[in-house]
Amino acid sequence: MESVDLTNRTRPLDSPIGGEAGWRWDHSYAALPEAFYQRIAPRLPADPSLVLLNAPLAEVLGLDPAVLSEPAGVAALSGGVVPPGVDPIAQAYAGHQFGSFTMLGDGRAVLLGEHLAPDGHRVDIQLKGAGRTAFARGGDGLAALGPMLREYLVSEAMHGLGIPTTRSLAVLRTDDPVQRETQLDGAVLVRVASSHLRVGTFEYAARFVGPDAVKTLADYALQRHFPDLHDSATPYRDLFVGVMQRQAGLVAKWMGVGFVHGVMNTDNVAIGGETIDYGPCAFLDAYHPSTVFSSIDTVGRYAFGNQPVITQWNLARFAEALLPLLAETPDEAVAWAQDRLGDFAAVYREAWLGVMRPKLGLFNAEDSDEGLIQDFLSLLADERADFTNRFRALADGLEDEPGEPDGYSAWRQRWRERLSRQPQPDVEARQRILAHCPAFIPRNLKVEQALTTGCEGDLSLLRRMLEVLGRPYDGHPGHEDLQQPAPSDAPPYRTFCGT
Ligand code: AMP
Ligand code: MG
Repeated sequence: MESVDLTNRTRPLDSPIGGEAGWRWDHSYAALPEAFYQRIAPRLPADPSLVLLNAPLAEVLGLDPAVLSEPAGVAALSGGVVPPGVDPIAQAYAGHQFGSFTMLGDGRAVLLGEHLAPDGHRVDIQLKGAGRTAFARGGDGLAALGPMLREYLVSEAMHGLGIPTTRSLAVLRTDDPVQRETQLDGAVLVRVASSHLRVGTFEYAARFVGPDAVKTLADYALQRHFPDLHDSATPYRDLFVGVMQRQAGLVAKWMGVGFVHGVMNTDNVAIGGETIDYGPCAFLDAYHPSTVFSSIDTVGRYAFGNQPVITQWNLARFAEALLPLLAETPDEAVAWAQDRLGDFAAVYREAWLGVMRPKLGLFNAEDSDEGLIQDFLSLLADERADFTNRFRALADGLEDEPGEPDGYSAWRQRWRERLSRQPQPDVEARQRILAHCPAFIPRNLKVEQALTTGCEGDLSLLRRMLEVLGRPYDGHPGHEDLQQPAPSDAPPYRTFCGT
């Protein structure tokens, strides 16, 4: 099966297509064998209008926000006009959803192609809500405005927190009604990703196409996400290890900010290591590892504290798809993969300690740190304390406070002793805490309020949250309302898939 050589795809850099906005299109994925996608144009949306445009992101991508906002720019962002030379597709993929294998694919998303940013980065430009495709099954191919605003807000908040994620370039409202429980406004989200390769893409190739296709895909993934492995003698093994390291690092970062992804199916595990699919995700208020927000996750498969173990399970599915590339014989391949999966706990633990130590103001490492961190989390869990605010409060929390629950005083004593064993003075530890414990996360009830008012045409809260969450480690006087956890008598927060 043919492979694609990204190094030889220089034409679009020499002759940009797409006009004044600054688009420089290429489509290396469409050069892969046709089993990997369906060629399909986005549907013509009814009267699209720009609701949100991410000007800072546009600028990083070398796109002119003013031109993107003009009618021709909006037409391109909404899928109404396909720029000349662009070759749109829907990607084929499969995946394990809540443990069961299923054929999936882009049912309502169209990948316009790849844009080559001025810094040389190649990013996917995908329109979500762009109509039915061959993979739509019973779905209508559409997206409603509220959930697309939600993805925009939460993905940009993740970026602000310093966590790898797909980005959101724009949300457009359309006059296409979307029938859910009620009739809603239609929308298109313009998603930017380092790629949309998923563990599920490999599962699709392995299950439905064949070993040659897995190799073609692996070669493509290596070029796109691990170019440094170009000269490796064992590229496919290194690909597996690289993906494992990125996933461990990513989930460790989620655990550091109290993020519950909510639907960690293998089709939502990006090979490039970005957070993808902002369906039922939410952030913890009250800390407890068993927290679940998704209405369909009845057994807590994707509960906050389960996310590392589920990542290992998902990586096992990735290893299965790669098996023919990992060794000469199946037995050898399985043994090698099992060894690597056995490394996961240690790889994850290191990544997690790397995230958590600075949250306690620690600059160096001691063996006892894990216990110190775990014991603090246990105190939070017992009390159902607010995860974000309690960590942030450590910056000014060296002294005991009256009325604290049992246990804090003894823990704080250990922590103070630990801080005194590092060379940095406490003022530096304090700065480190402030730089690693966000003051702001997207608070669930505020997110809901911003989406409700946003869908009614009042974007003020949404814009204010985007502004504050873009720099969540800074203080933002006057925006204290965005730091409030849900009131303790509020009903449990619930989120939904299939939006
Ligand atoms: P998700 O829950 O977003 O990961 O989607 C799971 C699968 O359902 C993917 O194959 C989606 O493309 C597909 N899908 C979700 N919503 C729709 C829709 N409204 N129309 C068609 N396909 C959809
Ligand atoms: Mg998905």
